[in-house]
Amino acid sequence: MRKLLLIKYSAEIFLKGLNRNKFEKTLKDNIRRVINGMDYEFILDSGRWFLHSNDMEELSKRVRKVFGVQEICIVSEVSLSFDDICLQALRELEEGEYKTFKVETNRANKKFPKNSMEISREVGAFILNNKQDIRVDVKNPEVVVNIEVREKGAYIYSKKIKAVGGMPYGTNGATLLMLSGGIDSPVAGYMMGRRGVELHSIYFHSHPYTSERAKEKVIELNNILKKYTGNTKLYVVPFTKIQMEIMDKCREDELTIIMRRFMMRISCALAEALNIQSVTTGESIGQVASQTMDSLVVTNAVSDRPVFRPLISMDKEDIMNISRQIGTYETSILPYEDCCTIFVPKHPKTKPILRMIENSESLLNVEELVKDAVENIEII
Ligand code: ATP
Ligand code: MG
Repeated sequence: MRKLLLIKYSAEIFLKGLNRNKFEKTLKDNIRRVINGMDYEFILDSGRWFLHSNDMEELSKRVRKVFGVQEICIVSEVSLSFDDICLQALRELEEGEYKTFKVETNRANKKFPKNSMEISREVGAFILNNKQDIRVDVKNPEVVVNIEVREKGAYIYSKKIKAVGGMPYGTNGATLLMLSGGIDSPVAGYMMGRRGVELHSIYFHSHPYTSERAKEKVIELNNILKKYTGNTKLYVVPFTKIQMEIMDKCREDELTIIMRRFMMRISCALAEALNIQSVTTGESIGQVASQTMDSLVVTNAVSDRPVFRPLISMDKEDIMNISRQIGTYETSILPYEDCCTIFVPKHPKTKPILRMIENSESLLNVEELVKDAVENIEII
């Protein structure tokens, strides 16, 4: 008898019809990528995926985090002998002090002489005969003994471990994440990646007003995201010249909104050049002046592609919780200023009007500034 990891993927993948193979292949490749370097064996048995390794704990730890994996179970693999199945089912209950149980069987192997109802009933009877102080409760059992009868063997388990869920990374197009050093944007990127969207990051750096350490913090955040995505490139935009121009030519209370529009324009231009369909930000409605409904409308007006804001309806507290879970929080709260905190007006407009902002921007050579910034992007 050996232990295997049973991998269950999101039900949504089942619904993909003709595309299902593509989703499955990507998920399998992504799983292989995170366990690369470990000794392991991939076992396919009548549609089910199993993994074996000498280090099952490490294996579960890594596989649980792969986008698209819904649940994992540590299963015992036994031969297709009914006696072996009964014995292992009994052993399964020895690990806890259960008072009630039920047996559930899934028989994919139709050549097995008993059907699933018979298996459940007879294994249940065997357990009752061999174990004291336990009874069957089909409605609300403390433990469910699952038996899967497949081609190569039978698999028995009672514990299910919730995994990250979502869709296989790389199956749902691409987005350019506006990644600052704050708490929100890494979470927004994670949430898009979890839905299978390929992630690229862009960071606006205001050297020397923001330190090298602020940039390193963003690089570190991008590296944490990479643990989930494998391949997220970071594009660093030199932003100081644009900010100086805005400070020089525009009203103080419009600084932030005009700056946000430049970030959006540059992001769209880079996205276009890289064939990335969309842009993602960490904005949440009402959080700060630049995230009021009116400000979002004015910022959005310069975008030529969908802008996704996965945090738009979330409270800060909830965003912080996710950030802790995914491991970006500790880095995000490091005190290095991002560009916005230095060029912040005392009373930024909370209700900007598009025509007025466009009017203010007419004093700037917008196209030239955007082109220049894009040409000087540094790729990390
Ligand atoms: P965050 O916690 O993500 O920094 P925030 O609450 O500080 O967000 P803002 O500073 O208004 O909010 O930024 C809103 C969004 O704009 C960010 O979530 C991010 O997507 C993007 N953004 C802001 N500053 C930068 C920057 N320097 N480089 C790249 N993107 C940025
Ligand atoms: Mg910020």
